[in-house]
Amino acid sequence: MFDMDGTLLDLAFDDLIWNQKLPERHATTHQCSLEQSHAILHAFYQEHKHTLSWYSSDYWTSKVGVNVLALQYEFQDRIQPRQGCFELLEQLKAQGYKCWLMTNADCASLKLKLENVDLRPYFEVIISSEEIGYSKEFVEFWQIVQQQHPFEPRQAFLIDDTVPVLKGAANFGIENLITILQPSTLKAAKNALEMEYPAILNLTELLPYLDQYQKELDAKTA
Ligand SMILES: [Mg+2]
Repeated sequence: MFDMDGTLLDLAFDDLIWNQKLPERHATTHQCSLEQSHAILHAFYQEHKHTLSWYSSDYWTSKVGVNVLALQYEFQDRIQPRQGCFELLEQLKAQGYKCWLMTNADCASLKLKLENVDLRPYFEVIISSEEIGYSKEFVEFWQIVQQQHPFEPRQAFLIDDTVPVLKGAANFGIENLITILQPSTLKAAKNALEMEYPAILNLTELLPYLDQYQKELDAKTA
């Protein structure tokens, strides 16, 4: 199970939109200073962090008076895969792994991202938390997904750059949790020793984890 933004795709695009372009557009629209826009938007971000509203383009459009989806379309050429993305997906496909894409991006943003980086051929299930009614941080998200697409949590791997999401998945019973050292190329990579979960830089670094898990499974059943 893969997260999209910051995991398979470079979060630099989202950083650009939310931290730079939206404040600029907000300041122009409301004729205030860029500093004021940053302060207003920062307060909104803090208030809604990790909720479904936070991930909704419609919500932000109504809340801040800037068409956030149109803004994303304007800069869509900046949507890029993270390092090792397609190499990993090709390998997993060749090895017969079933890959699911689980994103907190709303359906409209998901569509835009997939139009620019076509991940669809590699995934048998693609889910936006908007369809589920809970963001991935909540155990309810995983319960509803499991009702719709039965899976064994202990046999699943989740790769996600957001720690509260990994915690939500852990509460549900997913044990194999991996995080990302550099979700955005606009920011420095984090230190693996300071991470709460095993962390990878290039996505292909996932493969040894899967091999190790398979070996342990084989040893148990031998
Ligand atoms: Mg993410």
